[in-house]
Amino acid sequence: MTETMPIVADMLLIGGTLVTMNSKREIIKNGALAIRGSEIAWIGSAEEAEHQVEADRRIDARDGIIIPGLINAHSHLPMTLFRGLADDQPLEAWLERIWKVETDFATAENTRVGTQLALVEMIRGGVTCSADMYWQYITNIETAKAAGFRLVNGPPMIGVDGPGGALTGDLEARAREFIAEHHDNPLLHLCIQVHGTYTATDEMLEVAVNLASELDILFMTHASESKAEVETVTERFSKTPIEHLYAWGLLGPRTLLAHCVHLRDDEIALLSETGTSVAHCPESNLKLGNGVARVPEMLNAGVNVALGTDGAATNNDLDMFGELRTAALMHKGIHLDPTILPAKEAFAMATINGARAFRLADRIGSLELGKLADIAVIDLGAAHVTPMYDVYSHLCYAVDKHDVTDVFVHGKQVMSNRKLLTLDEHKIKVEARRIAQAIATKMQG
Ligand SMILES: [Zn+2]
Repeated sequence: MTETMPIVADMLLIGGTLVTMNSKREIIKNGALAIRGSEIAWIGSAEEAEHQVEADRRIDARDGIIIPGLINAHSHLPMTLFRGLADDQPLEAWLERIWKVETDFATAENTRVGTQLALVEMIRGGVTCSADMYWQYITNIETAKAAGFRLVNGPPMIGVDGPGGALTGDLEARAREFIAEHHDNPLLHLCIQVHGTYTATDEMLEVAVNLASELDILFMTHASESKAEVETVTERFSKTPIEHLYAWGLLGPRTLLAHCVHLRDDEIALLSETGTSVAHCPESNLKLGNGVARVPEMLNAGVNVALGTDGAATNNDLDMFGELRTAALMHKGIHLDPTILPAKEAFAMATINGARAFRLADRIGSLELGKLADIAVIDLGAAHVTPMYDVYSHLCYAVDKHDVTDVFVHGKQVMSNRKLLTLDEHKIKVEARRIAQAIATKMQG
């Protein structure tokens, strides 16, 4: 960097505490970051920025925090439409009730509204990327693209009847067709998915293993979420879900498993040995009474654990700051040990570990030169975040989703001073309420 040749950028975020989440976990107090195109073009101190960066626009982040956009490692976006529809029930009864409603209501149009509602909530909460699983995945992808939101997504396979978006018929041909059509969307990172080992046919697992290895794409599934699931799968295959996936060649660095609540020591070792990542969804696990995943044990064994909200019907929000706090608190309480899952480590689960789980750690998850500009700016003006001694402690235990003011995805601003720039929030909420009214009427009838 020379002083005579300033960096020309589109946007300069200046002032505030910059949390890089790079490998040294560097924090720049009174930092600055410049965006050019889709990438981070410069990082340094605010003082240096004044001499070294020329930008068309700037955001004064003084007294705030600049963080990598949060990464939601497991979601079902359109299920915002079913928020609070089937609460206080076990997973199996919940699935039965939800699947019934979905068959009637998960049309492409309703899915678009549900996904938009989810994107409003997530962008407002500083989330810039989500790994999503849903029957109407093509609608999700188109909706996210239009809103400028980053998705990890791809054909999901499930061996139960569902609306038209489910993969049926020639699974492999349909999956290949989809992947060929969508490979050049810069906001989409392709994957192949099955719902779970208890709902997948052998053919689905074979398609998944073939496509993931041949195309070198991510494979995602739910695994060992409830005790009943582990018992069902063990009865059927004489193997636990983890053992079953391993036998199919479906554990490895290309695999991201949601939940993993009920794991034995040897299964944790297997996840570590194979380099398999886990999406920890603490609030969904608590709400469905599924238990508490052995996250400290997994982290100690070297498993990459990311953080997810799951769908809004089992959470019931898509608030990653809330999820972060729940995770950090819950494991301390369960182990009677306040040193477990410290704030810095928990925050990594919501950022760089998510990127690693998606095999995108070289592109997102931290604020570093040349990486994609997925960024959230947090305001520290409110009483509940005053004063600040430790930024990780704040991010984990004090900051609220409403403190997020500005969000960038792929270098493009999607929220400015708490105003959404790519989504019509009022219209989306009106449409969502109208759909919910129809669902409520149908369920009464
Ligand atoms: Zn899920």
